[in-house]
Amino acid sequence: MKISEEQLALVNSRIDAMVKAGSFYGKKLKEAGITRVETAEDFEKLPFSEKNDLRDAYPLGLMTAPEEEIVRIHSSSGTTGVPVIIPYTAKDVDDWAIMFARCYEMAGITKKDRIQITPGYGLWTAGIGFQLGAEKLGAMVIPMGPGNTEKQLKMMQDLESTVICATSSYALLLGEEIEKRGIKDNVKLKKGVIGSERWGKTMREKIHDMLGIELFDIYGLTEIYGPGIGINCPGSDYMHYWDDYLYLEIVDPKTGEVLPDGEWGEIVITTLVKEGAPLIRYRTHDLSRIIPGKCSCGSCFPRIDVIRGRTDDMMKIHGVNVFPAQIEEALREFPELSSEYQIRLSHLDGKDTMRIYVETNGHVDFEDISRRIAASVKSKIGFTPIVKVVEEGVLPRSEKKTKRVIDERYEE
Ligand code: ZN
Repeated sequence: MKISEEQLALVNSRIDAMVKAGSFYGKKLKEAGITRVETAEDFEKLPFSEKNDLRDAYPLGLMTAPEEEIVRIHSSSGTTGVPVIIPYTAKDVDDWAIMFARCYEMAGITKKDRIQITPGYGLWTAGIGFQLGAEKLGAMVIPMGPGNTEKQLKMMQDLESTVICATSSYALLLGEEIEKRGIKDNVKLKKGVIGSERWGKTMREKIHDMLGIELFDIYGLTEIYGPGIGINCPGSDYMHYWDDYLYLEIVDPKTGEVLPDGEWGEIVITTLVKEGAPLIRYRTHDLSRIIPGKCSCGSCFPRIDVIRGRTDDMMKIHGVNVFPAQIEEALREFPELSSEYQIRLSHLDGKDTMRIYVETNGHVDFEDISRRIAASVKSKIGFTPIVKVVEEGVLPRSEKKTKRVIDERYEE
């Protein structure tokens, strides 16, 4: 989806503000001699912004509105040390609340709901975002914050919470505790809004089964307001996002080239009306794709697919970008397989090959199943891998994150 005239006008107003304020991106544009963009093609030539730019701007180099208009800051910790500080004006805070309230509405949550919020409050954008949106909607908020499961369950029952906002792992833990205590009948939860983590289908099904609630995936990142910039609609995994506030592009993570709708790549976000810290073409490193066409739910807001990991997980083979999630999707069609798998890329006889190791028990025809898996993977990625079936328990397991992709092509 190309950027519209209306969106371009908003981008130009943000460019003006950033150049005037001399914020990091304003300086970047000034150096490049850019003060306006006239066309979608111009827009696609604008430089990207990166998390490192934001770190370099620490503490307040991103501030684009006058100081007297800034009402708060949020911060994303990051793993590398230097935090990123995002200043917000009152309008930014209100815009965020409007977007988040839309998320709740998309999930069918109303002002009659009682929303129990378990993500943390403080410097980061989680708890407070869930709260802002719920108040904008007009629902009753039960602002628990994280931990203290005993108290969470007591409030959940006494106040008859109907919506739980949590990370997937905490929702799972609550579900297990409810089951263990045999208090499911006292729990009135109907919906769960799950954010800030990537989670698999299996986990989703488990939480759904345990709590008997409808689950929604909320998208967002601190650099771009926080959670609440997109959510899936009932009956679909695809997430709608708010294109009156944000412009999304999908780019090839290696070349930065903009990809057509439907192709997988990195989400790049431009904020259209943000005042405190506008961002132009911000690289999220999240992998997804834009879903073409209109949703059957009737909403006109555009959609992206479920976040399928980070750009660092991507493999390039035979000139095609491949993501572990695509392989996973193909493997899920085979109930005979365990959840473990390993992908090995190597350079044999002058060409790149992909070998996929999967596990199963001894009761299946290894040759037959490997042929069927290879065909299924080919239908997803466009070329045929070599599939090796091994006995269950053979592949390495790790307590932490198991390494799924081993690239041996560039090793001696
Ligand atoms: Zn929809």
